[in-house]
Amino acid sequence: MELYSYVSHLACPKCHRTYRVEEEHHLCLCGSPLRVHYHLEELKKIYRPVHLTGRENTLWRYHELLPVQTPEHVVSLGEGMTPLIPMFKIGQEMNIAKLYMKDEGSLPTGTFKARGAAVGVSKAKELGIREIAMPTNGNAGAAWSLYAARAGIRSHIVMPVDAPEITRSECAIAGARLYLVNGLISDAGKIVAQGIQDFHWYDASTLKEPYRIEGKKTMGLEIAEQMEWKLPDVILYPTGGGVGLIGIYKALQELRELGWIQDRLPRLVAVQAEGCAPIVKAWEEKKRESEYWHNASTVAFGINVPKALGDFLVLEAIYQTEGCAIAVDDTSILEEQKRIARLEGAFVCPEGAATFVAARRLRENGWIQEGETVVVLNTGTGIKYPRTIQAKPLMLQPGERIAMKSREGMADREVES
Ligand SMILES: *Cc1c(COP(=O)(O)O)cnc(C)c1O
Ligand SMILES: [Zn+2]
Repeated sequence: MELYSYVSHLACPKCHRTYRVEEEHHLCLCGSPLRVHYHLEELKKIYRPVHLTGRENTLWRYHELLPVQTPEHVVSLGEGMTPLIPMFKIGQEMNIAKLYMKDEGSLPTGTFKARGAAVGVSKAKELGIREIAMPTNGNAGAAWSLYAARAGIRSHIVMPVDAPEITRSECAIAGARLYLVNGLISDAGKIVAQGIQDFHWYDASTLKEPYRIEGKKTMGLEIAEQMEWKLPDVILYPTGGGVGLIGIYKALQELRELGWIQDRLPRLVAVQAEGCAPIVKAWEEKKRESEYWHNASTVAFGINVPKALGDFLVLEAIYQTEGCAIAVDDTSILEEQKRIARLEGAFVCPEGAATFVAARRLRENGWIQEGETVVVLNTGTGIKYPRTIQAKPLMLQPGERIAMKSREGMADREVES
């Protein structure tokens, strides 16, 4: 391969203005997020799946389709190529024989946010950026602080006080400047926007920098490669800002343009929580954009986003693939999280558990058909959300024997829970 990256330019999906990738750009003049384009025609002539054989087991194996132009600027902690795991037992229970989980829990920082951070921070480094700022529900801030630390870039992170506490520690240990706001991610966003005006930091907010999505699209590239370029029928994704879903859709479109996949694209499903479901509401009303969701609240904190800047792109991906959007309640999410651990040994995050609940519902109502291949995204490890699980250990004194009654106790508790 001649070039490390075949990136060509940035373009606006709304007004079609174009911008150079060698300069710092955020939103289009018209206010829309920008999209990264590649020289796919040229690449198509020389790039084949066989070129991936023997490459490193990280997302950088797809460097031709990533925006970083020189390998020296790559900031990596070994992210990518997460397992695609068959979920036989829970699949059987749901009557989905071919159910797979793409498990993002093993990535650095424990969530798929590492993908966006790795590519976004690498590109920021390539652009010579010294200081970044972003609002976050926790996981993105954690990932970006740590990757920025590795790149020698300073970071300013603003998150809601209710965000998972562990993510504060991750920002702190990385040396980020951390601010907590008594509000939602949208409030954090306004504070960051003001800070950027005042201090000229690099705006790393969701979709206000074009490269995070390129990192997240590697989930789509990996699913295709791991399924040997035969796509599943349905992919379910827990949708907050929606970057992951937009990214997966973009990856599949690029692979189709390269001629690496021929099948119909999978039906993409945006899964949200009942306490915050702006995309679901918009989809049900057949709208192109969502409205701000008031009093947003859910245990699945990563998808607690009342209004996403890229909502129109998420909805387009759903409409174009004949997918759907579905909301699930917190009680079912937490029950499912437990079932997945008990049946499959996987400790998934609440956002990931939401996709299982959605798959179950969509199979029940026939939207997912008999024999279809279904991939659910577990976007992070459950270990990052210790407060959603209540352990009920039996207390013993040193030297005390385990009595039969304690086993009965366990059984009782199981019935109780
Ligand atoms: C951020 C996040 C999501 C939502 O991802 P988007 O791509 O912003 O929609 C889902 N799950 C977890 C664990 C997250 O951290
Ligand atoms: Zn524009």
